[in-house]
Amino acid sequence: MPISVVIVGSGPSGFYVAEALIKSEADVAIDIVDRLPTPYGLIRGGVAPDHQSTKRVTRAYERTALNEKVRYYGNVELGRDVSLDELRAAYDAVVLTIGMPGDSKLGVPGEDKKGVIGSAAFVGWYNGHPDFKDLDPCLETGNVVVIGNGNVAIDVARVLVKTPAEMTEADLPRHVSDAIQASPVTDVYMVGRRGPVEAKFTNVELREMGQLENAAAIVDPGDLPEEVTGDWSDRDKRLRERNLASLKEFSTAPRDGKAKSVHFTFYAKPVEIVGPDRVTGARLEKTRVVNGRAEGTGAFVDIECGLVVPAIGYTLDPPQDVPFDQSTGTIRNDNGRVEDGVYVAGWAKRGPSGVIGTNKPDGQNAAAQILEDVKNGSKPGRTQFETLLKSRNIEWVDFAAWQRIDAAEVANAPPGAPREKFVTTADMLKLLGSAS
Ligand SMILES: Cc1cc2nc3c(=O)[nH]c(=O)nc-3n(C[C@H](O)[C@H](O)[C@H](O)COP(=O)(O)OP(=O)(O)OC[C@H]3O[C@@H](n4cnc5c(N)ncnc54)[C@H](O)[C@@H]3O)c2cc1C
Repeated sequence: MPISVVIVGSGPSGFYVAEALIKSEADVAIDIVDRLPTPYGLIRGGVAPDHQSTKRVTRAYERTALNEKVRYYGNVELGRDVSLDELRAAYDAVVLTIGMPGDSKLGVPGEDKKGVIGSAAFVGWYNGHPDFKDLDPCLETGNVVVIGNGNVAIDVARVLVKTPAEMTEADLPRHVSDAIQASPVTDVYMVGRRGPVEAKFTNVELREMGQLENAAAIVDPGDLPEEVTGDWSDRDKRLRERNLASLKEFSTAPRDGKAKSVHFTFYAKPVEIVGPDRVTGARLEKTRVVNGRAEGTGAFVDIECGLVVPAIGYTLDPPQDVPFDQSTGTIRNDNGRVEDGVYVAGWAKRGPSGVIGTNKPDGQNAAAQILEDVKNGSKPGRTQFETLLKSRNIEWVDFAAWQRIDAAEVANAPPGAPREKFVTTADMLKLLGSAS
């Protein structure tokens, strides 16, 4: 009997576990489960819609999904449709690769007002994630404040100020591109607690901000140090030097008549979201960096705006019975082992950091642990799982069905775009006509 493995979550980390198990050439039967009909996690729902080349990594995941040892069960949610105990009973190994889908809170007064939308929700909305289809993006405003100095903050700012022509090859759903193009947004303030040297942007993403057709990157030269000082590794220092050079270029570049602006607002932390029940502004306290930490200076500035997007990190609200470590916000584990027969990889294990490839060693680690712990298969795996799903009338989407969804999305694409996404599970199931 093969070793039966169920991987819960079809993002990069889930696929890297499956890939490593296949490469091991062990006798395994691998089932990949996702709460959405569509696979690929944040590659579909997080990576920016105008960065299609990054999304091409899914071609490798597709090869994995089509391997004879692998089955895909979309539209099945751990905690809603099946429990961890049921998966443990059915499979020799359960791997949790469920990511970190929630938004970290700012922790300042007023953040529950209408018009404060965390980046997980905002990015989910513009990427057509079914959870956020009905989000009101609060774009009837000239100014937007994005809080955070990482690549996600840059993605949000860029998507808001690019021209329709610049977005032709993106896969923004139609209702999203309509909403963005109809909005009066002209100014995006990207707020970082610390300075340009501490910012976490990668240089390719930062440089792109200097090349936008109708949006200028605005940097106050007074915020820019002469050179990068501080205790950085050689690699980090080089990255920061490149970023500093790009920001210096932005600070002296002519506007060239560009109508929109992205303001790099360093040394400022949000202390209050202002407004009656709806956001009218963000109150920031100016900071200085002492020993790498941002300290308030007691000087305040208000930015008038109708939308605040905190892009400051992610959280996980774990499904029932999944062991959770409050201190790290991740699934409790010892280097990937959660409990007997249960493993974790990816963001749910390490927290929300790193690039797509960072999840690969995690996946390999989980696969190696499974093969170390389980020498022979003893549990039925997918036959028991499918019986359970059928007994509950759960309409799962297999990989062939996903390929039909994919083909329909590609066929519906506007000129130049790679696809027009389905943004509700109901529409995807309607296309499929019936249960898999
Ligand atoms: C906005 C954004 C942009 C990014 N852009 C880039 C980029 O350009 N380049 C780059 O290298 N990295 C980028 N990253 C990072 C990269 O996306 C992550 O490193 C990677 O997706 C993490 O993989 P994961 O498998 O751990 O989680 P995820 O990709 O989040 O996958 C988790 C999967 O689990 C499923 N799931 C969750 N809960 C359940 C449940 N209860 N039952 C069943 N299934 C469940 C989800 O539907 C999802 O498919 C970006 C991240 C974000 C947030």
